[in-house]
Amino acid sequence: AHLARIEAVDEKVHAFLHVDREGALEKAREVDAKRERGEKLGPLAGVPLALKDIFTTQGVPTTVGSKILEGWIPPYDATVTRRLREADVVILGKTNMDEFAMGSSTENSAYGPTGNPWDLTRIPGGSGGGSSASLAAYEAPLAIGTDTGGSIRQPAAVTGTVGVKPTYGGVSRYGMVAFSSSLDQGGPCARTVLDAALLHSVIGGHDELDSTSIDQPVPDVVTAARNGDVKGLRVGVVKEFRGEGYQAGVMQRFDESVELLRELGAEVVEISCPSFTKALAAYYLIAPSECSSNLARFDAMRYGLRVGDDGTHSAEEVTALTREAGFGDEVKRRVMLGTYALSSGYYDAYYGSAQKVRTLITRDFEKAFEQVDVMVSPTTPTTAFPIGERADDPMAMYLADLCTIPSNLAGNAAMSLPCGLAPEDGLPVGLQIIAPALADDRLYRVGAAVE
Ligand code: GLN
Repeated sequence: AHLARIEAVDEKVHAFLHVDREGALEKAREVDAKRERGEKLGPLAGVPLALKDIFTTQGVPTTVGSKILEGWIPPYDATVTRRLREADVVILGKTNMDEFAMGSSTENSAYGPTGNPWDLTRIPGGSGGGSSASLAAYEAPLAIGTDTGGSIRQPAAVTGTVGVKPTYGGVSRYGMVAFSSSLDQGGPCARTVLDAALLHSVIGGHDELDSTSIDQPVPDVVTAARNGDVKGLRVGVVKEFRGEGYQAGVMQRFDESVELLRELGAEVVEISCPSFTKALAAYYLIAPSECSSNLARFDAMRYGLRVGDDGTHSAEEVTALTREAGFGDEVKRRVMLGTYALSSGYYDAYYGSAQKVRTLITRDFEKAFEQVDVMVSPTTPTTAFPIGERADDPMAMYLADLCTIPSNLAGNAAMSLPCGLAPEDGLPVGLQIIAPALADDRLYRVGAAVE
């Protein structure tokens, strides 16, 4: 049924870069056969899922939304992919994304944009626009995203779906193509809080293949999602997340959510995190710096595309020609920015300062979580903007992640879930819930209460 739905609508939505029809049907048959034989089935047996094209899939193309990996077939599965297979999930295919997960609209994909199922002329968010759009278009009931600065939560917000960035280290990064390794975090996307929890519990947990993976059991997110409750919970409203640039209808729905939390028995406290105002600036030095290092591996020798390999060019020239042709504008902008920020003589002024700001942001969170159990904010300042509106204005694009980036810098857990439609445009608004590191279950407890 989901393959038929994809066939019917994906020409318009373009959530998928690759539909693995054969692989999906084969897995579905395998699950049926296991069931008939009375064998033990995985916890998500037969449930279809859309996988962001940043996770390696053995024998199935993985492009990361880039021309530079066009034609590359990974020889191995990411840990997330492997765990999905072991849970007997049916992987439908790979979803569209901003190239190397750099963007907030999926317009930076080398394979063309994805439409927002609520209004196809608008962006589905990014970088994981394909995953969230596939849920909103009913092409898949579950999806996987990655969140470096908001790429799970912002697409969830603008498509009216649920998305969770687990605590950093909570879901393995092995086989997840690196953008900014100290920020990147894979996580679940779904249409309900409980569905997200069921998926989270399957993909999460320690992995020896990722040195930053947390060596502890996954917090009990499923029980939390089944027992939504905020009675007596202290909820912090972050003062810095409102004001200029925030759409009126977004703030209206957010304020109503805060009111609902109060009615359900939460104690609402206003808190201040002054360093959050510098988060965007710090992020746009740290993320490009790490990306300039991570993307050095795309040298035309190891994977995918190779340009100019005709016997007339040196190896260096082949690398340069391939990178020139294979990387899009945003990726080049970040590699240049990062290389500059890390260069000798500038390192302390840029990268060093950004790391200090990162520490201040972490301290703001620590202080806040002495006063409150969770924090809330709008996920993103506006609803889905029209495709093309911010394509030539990187600064405007970067603002979409104003409220999501602090949690990546600090490494704590955060969720976005729908909280109604903005009255002025009838488009979905996201509520962000933020919890301390390792307290991912709190997100689900609160999310299930207000869902
Ligand atoms: N939009 C942010 C960026 O462009 C975040 C992307 C992400 O989370 N992968 O870097």
